[in-house]
Amino acid sequence: MIYLGEWIAADFHEQAPDGDGRQLFLSMTDFDLIHIWPEDQVTPDWDAAYHAFQCRHCDRFLGYWDST
Ligand SMILES: [Zn+2]
Repeated sequence: MIYLGEWIAADFHEQAPDGDGRQLFLSMTDFDLIHIWPEDQVTPDWDAAYHAFQCRHCDRFLGYWDST
């Protein structure tokens, strides 16, 4: 996996093929962590780090939330 760095909500919107950052977020985040992006928020403000990775073989994005 290639480490892409810390992502905020705007990064998901930028990277999403259809511009739907929350959908991309849901597709790359473990189910028990998806509550950090509530459905009614376009750009949630996070106070911890979301680390994003990309598979170098299939280009799939994956990530996890590092709460402090
Ligand atoms: Zn892959």
